[in-house]
Amino acid sequence: MKPFNHTNAKSLAEVQTALAGGKTALIAGGTDLIGTLKDNILPGYPSTLINIKTVPGLDYIKEEGGMLKIGAATRLADIAANRAVKEKYTALAQAASRAATPHIRDMGTLGGNIAQLHRCWYFRKPENRFNCIRKGGTTCFAMTGDNRYHSIFGAVNRCIAVHPSDAAPALIALNAKVVTNKRTIEAENFFDVKIPGNTVLAADEIIKEIQIPAPPAGAKSAFLKFAIRKSIDFPIVNCAVMVGGGAPRICLNAVAPKPYRALKAEAAIAGKPINEANAEAAGEAAVADARPLQAAKFKVQIAKTLVKRALLATV
Ligand SMILES: Cc1cc2nc3c(=O)[nH]c(=O)nc-3n(C[C@H](O)[C@H](O)[C@H](O)COP(=O)(O)OP(=O)(O)OC[C@H]3O[C@@H](n4cnc5c(N)ncnc54)[C@H](O)[C@@H]3O)c2cc1C
Ligand code: SF4
Repeated sequence: MKPFNHTNAKSLAEVQTALAGGKTALIAGGTDLIGTLKDNILPGYPSTLINIKTVPGLDYIKEEGGMLKIGAATRLADIAANRAVKEKYTALAQAASRAATPHIRDMGTLGGNIAQLHRCWYFRKPENRFNCIRKGGTTCFAMTGDNRYHSIFGAVNRCIAVHPSDAAPALIALNAKVVTNKRTIEAENFFDVKIPGNTVLAADEIIKEIQIPAPPAGAKSAFLKFAIRKSIDFPIVNCAVMVGGGAPRICLNAVAPKPYRALKAEAAIAGKPINEANAEAAGEAAVADARPLQAAKFKVQIAKTLVKRALLATV
C-alpha cells in the first residue's frame, strides 16, 4: 500500500473543503476503502484520507417528523439491533444483519455500504492487472471471461458488474431518501455506474443522513439474501419488499449494475392477496426482462425464488 496522510475531520465543512481539493478520499469504517487501497486497484490513488467518523453528529438513529433518520456514519450493527428499525423498517434491519460479518458490521457504516465499490474480480484484481472499462480502459474482461456472478439484466455504461450492497435494496423498497451536504436524492436514483464510483455523488459531496418515511399503516417489509455462506459472503442475489397499505415496492440487488426495482413484479402483485400463487407470479414477472450470459443463468431462478419468498415472508 502506498503511504497516505490521515486527517480526523471535525466538521462537514472541513470534509467538503478537503474533498474539493482533490487527491483525497473520505473514509468511514474503511472496510471497503482500505481493501481497494491495499490492493492498489483504484485508477487514482488518494494522498490523504479524511476520516468522517470524527465529525460530531453523524451517528444516530431517531424517529422524527414521521420518518426514521439514520446518520451516515451509523454502523450496520447498530441498525440491525435497533428496536424501531426491527419493528417498523424490518427489511433494513434484516439487510444490515445479513451484510458481511459481525466484525465488519461493527466497523462498516450505512453511508459506506451504499457508496461501496463493486466486487467484479477483474476490477478487484490487485495491482490493476485488468485495466477494464471501469478504470478507464477499453475492455470488459468479464464479458468474455468468468461472469457467473455478474448482471442478468445487461450492462450499464458497458459494465456488467453488479451492485453488491445488502442495504441498498432495503432502502429502495422502503422508499428512502439520501440526504447529502448538497441535496436530497431518492434512494432509487442514488446509484450510478462511473469510473470508478457507484453513486451520483459529486467529488465533494458527502452523505449526511438516510431518511425513511414511516411505512403506511398495515405495510410490512422483508429482506432475503442468497449467498454461498451464511456469513461474510456478498449476495449472489438479494431482495427487499414492502407490501400492504400502499403500492407494493420490490427491489433486487446483485443482479444488475445498479439495484433493480422489479416494476413488473410490483404490478403483478398490486391489489392482490399475498399467497403462494400470486407471489410466484410476481417472481416470474420480476425476471421477465432478464437476459443473463450463459454462466449467470442460475441467478435468474434465484431472483425469481427470492421475490416469491420475500413476499411470503410478509404474511
Ligand atoms: C469480507 C467482506 C465482506 C463483505 N460483505 C458484504 C455483504 O455481504 N454485504 C454488503 O452489503 N457489504 C459487504 N461488504 C462491504 C462492507 O461491509 C460495507 O460496504 C460497509 O458497510 C462499508 O462501510 P464503511 O463505513 O466501512 O465504508 P468505507 O470503506 O469507509 O467507505 C466505502 C466507500 O464509501 C465512501 N463513503 C463512506 N462514507 C461516506 C459518506 N458519508 N459520504 C460519501 N461517501 C462515503 C468512501 O469514500 C468509500 O469510497 C463486505 C466487505 C468485506 C471486506
Ligand atoms: S464487469 Fe465492469 S468492472 Fe468488471 S471487468 Fe467488466 S467493466 Fe470492469
